[in-house]
Amino acid sequence: MPDGTESESRKLLKRLREVMAGSDAGQTRLDKITHLIADSMGTEVCSVYLFRDAETLELCATEGLDAGAVHHTRMRLGEGLVGRVARTGSVVNTPDAPAEPGFRYMPETGEERYSSFLGIPIQRLGESLGVLVVQSHDARVFSADEVYALEVVAMVIAEMTELGAFVGEGAALSPLHQQSVLIRGISGQEGTAEGHVWLHEPRVVVTNPIAEDPERELERLTEAVEELRVGVNKMLELSRGADKEQLDVLEAYRMFANSKGWMRRMEEDISRGLSAEAAVEKEQSLARNRIAQAQDSYLRERLSDLDDLSNRLLRILTGQGNNTGADMPPDPILVARNIGPGDLLEYGRSLRAVVLEEGSVGSHAAIVARALAIPLVVRAARITTEALNGDQIMVDGDQALVHLRPDDSVVAAFRDKIAMRAEAQQRYASIREKPATTLDGQTVEMHMNAGLMADLPSLDGSGAEGVGLFRTELQFLVRNKMPKRSELVALYARVLDAAQGKRVVFRTLDIGSDKVLPYMKPNDEPNPALGWRAIRVGLDKPGVMRMQLQALIRATNGRPLTLMFPFVAQFEEYRAARAEVDKTIARERRLGHALPESIQIGAMLETPSLAFAPQKFFDEVGFISIGGNDLKQFFFAADRENERVRRRYDTLNVSFLSLIERIVERCERSNTPLSFCGEDAGRPIEALCLAAIGIRSLSMRPASIGPVKSLLRRSNLTEVRKVICDARHRGDQSVRSAVMEYLRNLS
Ligand code: PEP
Ligand code: MG
Repeated sequence: MPDGTESESRKLLKRLREVMAGSDAGQTRLDKITHLIADSMGTEVCSVYLFRDAETLELCATEGLDAGAVHHTRMRLGEGLVGRVARTGSVVNTPDAPAEPGFRYMPETGEERYSSFLGIPIQRLGESLGVLVVQSHDARVFSADEVYALEVVAMVIAEMTELGAFVGEGAALSPLHQQSVLIRGISGQEGTAEGHVWLHEPRVVVTNPIAEDPERELERLTEAVEELRVGVNKMLELSRGADKEQLDVLEAYRMFANSKGWMRRMEEDISRGLSAEAAVEKEQSLARNRIAQAQDSYLRERLSDLDDLSNRLLRILTGQGNNTGADMPPDPILVARNIGPGDLLEYGRSLRAVVLEEGSVGSHAAIVARALAIPLVVRAARITTEALNGDQIMVDGDQALVHLRPDDSVVAAFRDKIAMRAEAQQRYASIREKPATTLDGQTVEMHMNAGLMADLPSLDGSGAEGVGLFRTELQFLVRNKMPKRSELVALYARVLDAAQGKRVVFRTLDIGSDKVLPYMKPNDEPNPALGWRAIRVGLDKPGVMRMQLQALIRATNGRPLTLMFPFVAQFEEYRAARAEVDKTIARERRLGHALPESIQIGAMLETPSLAFAPQKFFDEVGFISIGGNDLKQFFFAADRENERVRRRYDTLNVSFLSLIERIVERCERSNTPLSFCGEDAGRPIEALCLAAIGIRSLSMRPASIGPVKSLLRRSNLTEVRKVICDARHRGDQSVRSAVMEYLRNLS
């Protein structure tokens, strides 16, 4: 096909289809294909290299190179011209291969006889599967038409590889999606789980990459794109008034759906012999490749929009919706690129674990996974490309590891770990009803953090004495519109009912910073964590706060009410918020609603400034709860959302402990009840040290109550306090190693 014409291209694809339809084994098919391509392209050589593992390419079939090199010649990713094509995902087209930088001479192939080289990546949806190469004696540059024709062929080979058409002897020809894979991500929620993959959006399977009737394929594409455009316009209409970011995405969809360039390229792919689906995938693959290379975040986002749109188009063309008819396995582990909090809540506790390719620790989905106590790993690279529905999968949320299709030794080791955890859980269950009383007779109250109805069953299961922090914003975050007051009344009433008289501390809305409501206009703030958030929003725009206070009072319906305000930085803010409560109570009384039997109003101490507030604040406030996550972030000036710094400073740093001690002393002086509700309350060593310096009430994730209580019951706080004091006098930066040493000597 020296001129690379459309009809030549179609003829080649037709012959490829005949090879595919035959009953040959994988290797024979591949041999025939390389022969066909060399013949059709008029080149002496055609070779197919496929990955034998993530880093190594293997020559799997060739026409023209020495046959003995097949399955022997290998190169690392990035090595030689073939390795370069695979690593960069771009074409190498040169008249003089040996003169190219990075060329590697492989004597066993006899390729020194050939001068020109054209290498095309074989990739499917951005996943690199191998490289297709043609070579010839004469020094020539392959024409744009020839490159294009070979790209189309590479696309077909990619689809065939995915469908398992070349499965045969040798690791490079082993079926895809069968080897075991270990993926490292970031932990979003601890815990371990074993189960089977359930894809939130199953992969689209294209079984017909080659067009039988190009005219018909063009029609199918045109119809599908029209359906897509109508759908996008409808989405835009329904989203009037949505926030700017969402509208930007939809506008980008509309732009791409109407893009003449996109359409023209796909039409050309079809006229070269691809089916409509394969044409869409070919363009999608190119876009994914560009996403991987793009430096500019705006460009990356727009290319991701194009990717989403291509997925929609593929689903229209193949008729494959999200529902493939497959049954959810009994032990599903959800695998997705990303998932919204609402969707995740819908799956609920049926899931054993969640693995996301994107996502972040602070995302709304992560918050929901935590509420559901489901192990979560985020940023698990390539998981959606690797995993198939029904694959065996093991998730280690503690180490942020995902074992996909694990081999027997991994399965055994993992099951040991699960068994050890189960044993520990049994030990914790045996002390569930017992108090967290230390060896020297001090008792620490154990409460749990919650935010969704889904949390409430843990109140009994964990042995928590109450809910020390109910994050009310979660209910706002998982919806796509502002909840009505009546909905909130019903919800808070259900929470109180489920608590059966145990104390629930409702924290008023804490939005802003990392918690941005999808339906509120985002504020473009340079430092959202230091910006207009939490009580600052509540006081400046009191409408929502008043509505929430009313809902809380009505839900209480005569029962006791406990509430606290987040992020109070100075006394005046607490006073102003308290005044709002008084006003709301007066209004509710006038309206004839039942008032709470008693009402306790507290403040969260989350900025160092409040630790130095006037004594009067400590005298007036109903109680104080230390929000250690924020307090630590502001004390060390280290962003809690930033992976680079969030673990940089130790909670057991003596400076931070001194601040906490100061708060303890001030509360003791004024008889103000004090508790600690940040994540550190749920870490046994941290909790032990907090108790040793005088904190007598901790609120944590339900799953942490057992381990924390178990350690407290085995410890002597007076001794731990002495260890802390000694470490401080020695000038240690953190008391951690001294406390660990003390605990080691105990056991
Ligand atoms: C905290 O800051 O410690 C806290 C409990 O609140 P949140 O994590 O919701 O900011
Ligand atoms: Mg906070």
